[in-house]
Amino acid sequence: MRSHYCGELNESLIDQEVEICGWVHRRRDHGGVIFFDMRDREGMAQIVFDPDTVESFALAETVRSEYVLKIKGRVRARPEGTVNKDIPTGGIEVLGKELTILNRAETPPFQLDEHITVGEDVRLKYRYIDLRRPEIAEKLRFRSKVTSNIRNFLDHEGFMDIETPILTRATPEGARDYLVPSRTHSGEFFALPQSPQLFKQLLMVSGMDRYYQIAKCFRDEDLRADRQPEFTQIDIETSFLEESDIMDITQRMMVKLFKDELNVDLGEFPHITYADAMNRYGSDRPDLRFGLELVDIKDLMAAVDFKVFSGPANDPKGRVAALKVPGGASIARRAIDAYTKFVGIYGARGLAWIKVNDLSQGLEGLQSPIIKFMPEDVVMQLLDRLGAETGDIIFFGADKAKIVNEALGALRVKLAEDLDLFEREWAPCWVVDFPMFEELEGGALTPLHHPFTAPSCSLEELQKNPAEALSRAYDMVLNGTELGGGSIRIHDQDMQKIVLKVLGIGDEEANEKFGFLLDALKYGCPPHGGLAFGLDRIVMLMTGAASIRDVIAFPKTQSAACVMTDAPSEVSQEQLRELSIRVRKPVTEDGSSS
Ligand code: ASP
Repeated sequence: MRSHYCGELNESLIDQEVEICGWVHRRRDHGGVIFFDMRDREGMAQIVFDPDTVESFALAETVRSEYVLKIKGRVRARPEGTVNKDIPTGGIEVLGKELTILNRAETPPFQLDEHITVGEDVRLKYRYIDLRRPEIAEKLRFRSKVTSNIRNFLDHEGFMDIETPILTRATPEGARDYLVPSRTHSGEFFALPQSPQLFKQLLMVSGMDRYYQIAKCFRDEDLRADRQPEFTQIDIETSFLEESDIMDITQRMMVKLFKDELNVDLGEFPHITYADAMNRYGSDRPDLRFGLELVDIKDLMAAVDFKVFSGPANDPKGRVAALKVPGGASIARRAIDAYTKFVGIYGARGLAWIKVNDLSQGLEGLQSPIIKFMPEDVVMQLLDRLGAETGDIIFFGADKAKIVNEALGALRVKLAEDLDLFEREWAPCWVVDFPMFEELEGGALTPLHHPFTAPSCSLEELQKNPAEALSRAYDMVLNGTELGGGSIRIHDQDMQKIVLKVLGIGDEEANEKFGFLLDALKYGCPPHGGLAFGLDRIVMLMTGAASIRDVIAFPKTQSAACVMTDAPSEVSQEQLRELSIRVRKPVTEDGSSS
């Protein structure tokens, strides 16, 4: 039907006849001449119809926005003064000769250039129109380049692309499962995979050696900003490699991707231990584009006469930390109040601060609601430890370590954004030496990664002191975002059973849930390990998209629904009967069922 894409036309085609197909982006009538901007996947071109081509001109007059047209015409240079330098085809236009209306379009629910004014729900309901917007289409095109780049790299490194089932059993990755009722096994359910974790491990038992998959994963998580219930992982598993090898391969993959697609040199990937990351950045995905490190002052505050600080300083689970912001003394009181509110989101009950107005004047030169509670020598030691200078502000966190880390960790990122403290555009790192387990309230242990991650200690040590055990897990972090994470896995049945036991999963439950894995570990399982990257997040970071929804063709809303297809939806009684399911509607507040 066509000889060129609209966006491909250029000066080299001047005087040639072309045929293009696409959508009418805009129509303008100018002094007896009709102009269209025609749009297709590759871009926009200007078409002109003058009244000399009588039939086509008459037809062109009936054309509206978003009609689908085929146009035959001649490329010519745009007249002087009408060249549009902003678009690649801005130096030429097509003088239309023949026009075919391939399809009409009703007035669309929103004009593409007015998308900002309509709510996201409207855009998602008519997502196929929203995707016509060049900036969104561009993100999908970029995503396609990313997957292709990664596939090429992994194919080249000897990885095999193997699909794993979608209808399967639960894989514990810390979220709720999406369940699918089975018709043929009444009363039983499949779970959609939270990740292909166990299948990829089984593929190693099979000897596949190097596996990858661009895999859909499903997690029914509590609604948190910018998460999707289904998302895509670049899932990787290898045999007979140590963590350093796996980190090396995947780091090279990421470096190549950024170089090829963005011409960015990611540079060095420093390794930071989990403990260090928490201490210095309050986060296991530290943003290293700027400094602003947390400094521990627990020892200094243990004896002060200020409960807010001395309490946590004497609590083994407490933390007292300071965050110095160079030049921050000019932060206004109102802004400090806003930051106090901000850290409240993370459970902090306040935000103490000291402004260093003039260091040379000692206490006199400081301004703070809290220094009156501290002996002068403690304040001086504090300033010394932080290397405080005139013009700085120091913020404090004192609470359970978890709260201080989350609050000051988030505050440091917010301050960097507000005060534009970024020193580099890209700052990757590896976080290593994670704890095996995290203690829940009440003392139970839960895996920090997943229950198949190998500990760095022996079986005996693990049994003796599980809460202190470190794991062989690693996360790749970029600009404060976890790009991916993985681990060396347990390949020994006894170790796997012990880890499950530490997690409170007894033999019977272990056999019921993971019997197939425990069996496989008996039949010649090689040492293996891998990791998975979040594709959506990578594309989001690389394109600078504001939301993960912008890099997914058909995303779900924040409440995990699809407003376009109206999914999830009710199903017929007949379908339910076949599945042996009776739906119990949630009871509403007045006691009736809705
Ligand atoms: N299955 C893990 C996850 O989804 C990644 C891995 O350990 O390879 O986070």
